[in-house]
Amino acid sequence: MTQTAKNTGHPDNSWYADTVPITAFPTFAGDKTTDIAIIGGGYTGLGAALELARHGVSVTLIEGAQIGSGASGRNGGQIHTGQRVDPQTLAAQLGSDAARALWDMAEAAKAHLFELINTYNIDCDFRHGLIHSWHKPRFAEDDRAYADFVSQNYGYDKLSLMDKHEVAAELGTDVYHGGLFDAGAGHLHPLKFALGMARAAHAAGAALYEHSRVQSYHPTGDGYVLRIGDGHRLKCRKLLICGNGYMQGLDRDIDRHVVPINNFILTTEPLPDRTILPNDYAAADSRFVVNYWRRTADNRLLFGGGENYTPWFPKDIKAFVRRNMLKIYPQLANIKITHAWGGTLAITLSRQPFVRALSPDRLVSAGYSGQGVVLAPYFGKLLAHAALGDARDIDLLSQLRPPPFPGGPWLQTPALIAGLSWYALRDRL
Ligand SMILES: Cc1cc2nc3c(=O)[nH]c(=O)nc-3n(C[C@H](O)[C@H](O)[C@H](O)COP(=O)(O)OP(=O)(O)OC[C@H]3O[C@@H](n4cnc5c(N)ncnc54)[C@H](O)[C@@H]3O)c2cc1C
Repeated sequence: MTQTAKNTGHPDNSWYADTVPITAFPTFAGDKTTDIAIIGGGYTGLGAALELARHGVSVTLIEGAQIGSGASGRNGGQIHTGQRVDPQTLAAQLGSDAARALWDMAEAAKAHLFELINTYNIDCDFRHGLIHSWHKPRFAEDDRAYADFVSQNYGYDKLSLMDKHEVAAELGTDVYHGGLFDAGAGHLHPLKFALGMARAAHAAGAALYEHSRVQSYHPTGDGYVLRIGDGHRLKCRKLLICGNGYMQGLDRDIDRHVVPINNFILTTEPLPDRTILPNDYAAADSRFVVNYWRRTADNRLLFGGGENYTPWFPKDIKAFVRRNMLKIYPQLANIKITHAWGGTLAITLSRQPFVRALSPDRLVSAGYSGQGVVLAPYFGKLLAHAALGDARDIDLLSQLRPPPFPGGPWLQTPALIAGLSWYALRDRL
C-alpha cells in the first residue's frame, strides 16, 4: 500500500524506531490553560519547551502524532556546519556583519546540541567528522572558496580538502573526484536525541502531550485558544508554532512560505567489513538532491537519497533509495536491505529558514531544509527567548525573508516541480 506523507506516528519500517524504546506521553483531554503553548513535538518544539521549562514558565507542548515521530525521528542524523545557504552568498545578500552573525548563530547551535547531549546524558551514538564528496570536479573550486572564506573571516579551521584517493579510502568507493572533510561536523541517532530532549523537557516541568492534533487556533484578545483533537481546548497567552513539514492548513501565511518535501532512507544488514567508512565519518555528496550516508552503531549502512514533492511516498521505498545507493556502492548489490522509510521536511523558496513573529505573541520557526538537526533545537530555544522578551536573534533571522511560493501547499505548480527537477537533472550532467 502507498504510504502518505501524513505523520501518524513512527514509521513501521524505521531502523530508528526499532532501536530505541519509545517514551509514551499522555493524550490531551479537557479544557486547560497554560502560559505558553507549543504546536509540534520535534526538535524545534522540544527545544522551546525545554528552555521555557528551565526558566520555570508554564509551558504545554501538543503533538499530533508521537513525540519525535516527525522529521526529527526519521532523518539522516547528519550534523552540518553553518546555515543552509553558504556564507559568501549571505554576505553578498545581507552584508558581512549579518552573515557573520548567522555563522556565529549556527556555531552556537552546534555547541547547544553538544551541551544538550552532555547535560542530559543523551546516549545518541554521536560521532565526529563528515566528508562532503564531489560528484563533479567543478565542486572542488566551490569548496576551496568556502574553506578559505570561513577560515579567513570566521577563524573556522576544521575543514580540510581531500583528494580523490583520500576520499576513496574513507568512503570505500571511487566514484567521487575529491571532497572536503569537516572535523566540526558529525552524526547521531536522531530519534534517540529527540526522545532525550523530550525526557529532559518533561523532567524540567514542561507538559507534553501526543496523539493530540491541533485542528485550529483562534485569538481571544489576551492570547489564543487551541482546538485539539475531538473538541478539547487549550488556552494560552503566547503560541509557538513548530510543526515544520507537517502543519499545512494551520496558518495561511506559513503555508505560503514553507512547503513540505519528502526524503527517503534505507538501512542494510550489518556490513561484512569496514571498507566503507572505516573511521565512522558521515558522508554527503554535492548533488542538489543529495545522497547522504553513515555507518550505524551496529555497523549497518544508513543511506538516504531521493526525494519527491507529493503527499504520497513512492510505492517501493527500498527500491527507490537502493537505486541511488548502488550507483555509489555497486559492491552492495547482494546486501540485504532491512529497513526503509520516508519523512517530510520543510523547505522555503530561498532555502533560508522561515523564522518570525507573526504577531507579538505568536512565533514560528520552520523550513530548515537539510540543516535541522543542528539548527532546529537551537531555533526552538531562540523562540523561547523571544517569548520571554528577548527577540534579538529572532529579529536577525527575520531578516532572511524567504519569499512566498506561488501556488498552494506541496509543490503543486508545474513550474516549481520543473524547477526542482531541473536541478536534479543538472546532477546528472
Ligand atoms: C528523511 C529526512 C532526512 C533528513 N536528514 C537530515 C540530516 O541528515 N541532517 C539535518 O540537519 N536535517 C535533516 N533533515 C531535516 C530535519 O530532520 C528537520 O529539519 C528537523 O527535524 C525539523 O524539526 P522540527 O521539530 O521543526 O520538525 P518535525 O520533527 O517534523 O516536528 C514537527 C512536529 O509537529 C507535529 N505537528 C504538525 N502539525 C501539528 C498540529 N496541527 N498539531 C499537533 N502537532 C503537529 C508533527 O506531527 C511533527 O511531529 C532530514 C529530514 C528528513 C525527513
